[in-house]
Amino acid sequence: SQQRKPLIAGNWKMNLTHFEGIAHVQKVAFGLKDADYEAVDVAMLPPFTFIRSIQMLVDADKLKLVYGAQDISPHEKGAYTGEISGAMLAKLGCAYVLAGHSERRQYHNEDDALVNAKVKAALKEDLIPILCVGEGLEVRKAGEHLSHTLAQVEGGLQKVPADQAQRVVIAYEPVWAIGTGEVATPEDAQEVCGAIRTRLAELYSGDLADQVRVLYGGSVKGDNIAGIMAKPDIDGALVGGASLDAGEFVKICRYRE
Ligand code: PEP
Repeated sequence: SQQRKPLIAGNWKMNLTHFEGIAHVQKVAFGLKDADYEAVDVAMLPPFTFIRSIQMLVDADKLKLVYGAQDISPHEKGAYTGEISGAMLAKLGCAYVLAGHSERRQYHNEDDALVNAKVKAALKEDLIPILCVGEGLEVRKAGEHLSHTLAQVEGGLQKVPADQAQRVVIAYEPVWAIGTGEVATPEDAQEVCGAIRTRLAELYSGDLADQVRVLYGGSVKGDNIAGIMAKPDIDGALVGGASLDAGEFVKICRYRE
C-alpha cells in the first residue's frame, strides 16, 4: 500500500563473528543508495554482542539503515540472569526487536503470554516490536493455518492499546518455510497477511489495520521477493538466511528494479 513504507529486516540469527558482522553492515550499506532508503526501511538484526559496534558504525558514517535485536526480556530490570532489557536495547539505538520468533517459540517454549509481555516491554521503550506468527506444517496440512496464526496475533497483542498497536510490525512466517528453501506462494502469503489485517481491523479499527505493516518471512531471496511484494497486504519481508549474503540482501531491498 501507498501509505505503509515497506520494511526489509535481516535476522542474522546466531551467525557471523563480530568482525564479519561489521564488514557485513558496511557491505550492505555500500550497496544501498539514498533512493533505496526512500523506498524501503532497511533493518539489520544482529546478535546482541555486535550491537554496540554497529551503533558506532552507523552513527559515525551516518548510515541510513537501522538495526535492532532478535529478542528482549519481558522484564524491566532485576534478577533475570542472562536477559537483555528493552532499556538496554534502546540505549544502543535499536529501532526494532523481534518478539516470538518461531525458533524461540520452539526451542525456548515461548508462548503467547510471554510473547505478549515482550511486545509490551519493547513498546514501553519505544522500540518497534516485530511480532512473529505462523503455523507449522501439521497445522497447515490440517487447514488450520488461519485460525492458528490469527490466535497468535491476538495473543501477542493482548491489552496493547491502539496507540501502541499501530506501531507494531507483524511478520507472518510459516514455520515450514523458514530456512527450508520452501517459500510460500505469493497467494498463500497474501491469504494470511490479508487475514491478519482484517483481524486487526476487528480488534482495533480499519484505520489502524491500514497503518500496520505486515511482513512475510520464510526463504525470501532476491529472485522471489518481487512476487511476494506485489501482493496488497504484504509490506516487506523478514529475511533469515539470505540476509547473511550482502549482495543477496541488497537485491532483496531493491525488489522494485
Ligand atoms: C527467519 O528466520 O525469520 C527466516 C525468515 O528465515 P529464512 O529466510 O532463512 O527462511
